[in-house]
Amino acid sequence: MSHVLAAVAWPYANGPRHIGHVSGFGVPSDVFARYMRMAGHDVLMVSGTDEHGTPIQVQADAEGLKPRELADRYNRVIVEDLHGLGLSYDLFTRTTTGNHYAVVQELFEGMYRNGYIVPKTTMGAISPSTGRTLPDRYIEGTCPICGYDSARGDQCDNCGNQLDPIDLINPRSKINGETPEFVETEHFFLDLPALADVLRQWLDTREGWRPNVLRFSRNLLDDLHPRAITRDLEWGVPIPLDGWRERTDKRIYVWFDAVIGYLSASIEWARRTGDPEAWRRYWNVTDGAGGAASASDADGDAQAYYFMGKDNIVFHSVIWPALLAGYSGEGSRDGEPGQLGRLNLPTEVVSSEFLTMEGRKFSSSRRVVIYVRDFLQRYDADALRYFIAVAGPENNDTDFTWAEFLRRNNDELVAGWGNLVNRSISMAAKNFGEIPPIGPDGLTEADQALLAVARAGFDTVGDLIARHRQKQAIGEAMKVVAEANKYLSEQAPWKLKDAADKPRMGTILHVALQVVSDANTLLTPFLPHSAQKIHELLGGTGVHAPMPVIEEVTDLDVGPAYPVLTGDYTQGTRWESVPLAVGRALAAPKPVFRKLDPSIVDEELARLES
Ligand SMILES: [Zn+2]
Repeated sequence: MSHVLAAVAWPYANGPRHIGHVSGFGVPSDVFARYMRMAGHDVLMVSGTDEHGTPIQVQADAEGLKPRELADRYNRVIVEDLHGLGLSYDLFTRTTTGNHYAVVQELFEGMYRNGYIVPKTTMGAISPSTGRTLPDRYIEGTCPICGYDSARGDQCDNCGNQLDPIDLINPRSKINGETPEFVETEHFFLDLPALADVLRQWLDTREGWRPNVLRFSRNLLDDLHPRAITRDLEWGVPIPLDGWRERTDKRIYVWFDAVIGYLSASIEWARRTGDPEAWRRYWNVTDGAGGAASASDADGDAQAYYFMGKDNIVFHSVIWPALLAGYSGEGSRDGEPGQLGRLNLPTEVVSSEFLTMEGRKFSSSRRVVIYVRDFLQRYDADALRYFIAVAGPENNDTDFTWAEFLRRNNDELVAGWGNLVNRSISMAAKNFGEIPPIGPDGLTEADQALLAVARAGFDTVGDLIARHRQKQAIGEAMKVVAEANKYLSEQAPWKLKDAADKPRMGTILHVALQVVSDANTLLTPFLPHSAQKIHELLGGTGVHAPMPVIEEVTDLDVGPAYPVLTGDYTQGTRWESVPLAVGRALAAPKPVFRKLDPSIVDEELARLES
């Protein structure tokens, strides 16, 4: 058994999330976590909303709200959406908690003590007319990278690159249009070059990564510079050093605080379980894959998998490991770990590509968008989860079209898997009312062959999910479904109407139901909602696929209450073939999946245009 951390990218709380956001890493990380739990591992899946930084402050300003009020609104929306998708977080929290602030400041202080965070004099903007600091969000200009003419002081919303106000071409104040003046000011920088060697050693020991992620990450190491980790901004985590703590005009940069969320959420989870040290088994124990770790632990090893879109690779394969190594005292300046101890570097950075929408880039402002909430109001969560698994942006940019969604739902999910479930359970319920026994003639070769195919699926599908090849994994599970449908057509149990044939009919249906049960387990990580229903149709009781719950909690330290996503995932089914109990009553059959009317395509396209 391993202790497995599933660390999922933090959605930014400046609006509702669209299906592109959940396709790349939201659903795939849940599939992985569900499978690993079913396979007997001790999994901790954490994330939360990322709530600091300029964009939230700017939007709050525009709506006359405090940044926290705006973040409250979208934190709740996002929590509800992820709940609707059945994403099995142990804790989905947020970055505005007292716990998060304390953990961010602890990492900052530890890195500072070890010499990996250094003060640097840099050029900051002031307003010439008032002489006061001009926060990043009030500076606009042309992006030096892509030429977009409304880039902000800290980031270009068009190309996504991070900027410094002084990089902008024709910078101007958004308050009064004047040209800002740049004067010397002090900020803190992460000394990435002092951590380059340890990062390179760590990357050299990585196995099984998607080749493009490894290549991209290695290239980044060839050109590392110190990186500013504080900004001229009022909204964020205060700098925990004497002389800086009370300042309201300088804050820790949002990207620095957000990546620390993986650790702070783990600690918050542990504190909420009543065992405040429980997070350490995912963070302080040896990485079984090798890497920089040195200690070993009798209670199994620890692995950490990070899930994100490709635009965030740099934060997970360079910056976050640099923070962890710097805090642990492992760079060229050495040092000692702080009170959190030596922290594990990622085992694997699992990055996805992008989902486009009817051939266009998702864009909330241009209304090329389908929000998760809207989707779930009209369609089932598992219909989306199925599409993402078979046609999501795992290795290539992928286009979502309504026509393809309809086809995948109707021709594969409903006509393939739904049909197998429906006809085998209906026929058995009608003719036997329960799981029929294997008849006196025993199993034929065809019966045994099909059972073997289903049993073999546990190794094949499980191994593919563990290696983040989910498209292939669900393809293998659906092959079992196709084989079972072929078997039923060939065996044609509906023709065995005579009393003398009934034992053989029972055998065929017994085999079919066993394979439905096995295929249902194979598909559970992908389709947890329908897996629970099918488990019940087969006469099963109890929790088959555990679901997350939303809990309203109070801040553990200082701060207002907020909703979290959490759950008890210990009761689900295991990753194995479980022999069906002969004589167990079958539930009244009802369809599990919904066939969609082709008219939805035009309806949805019209919505998109409106
Ligand atoms: Zn740009």
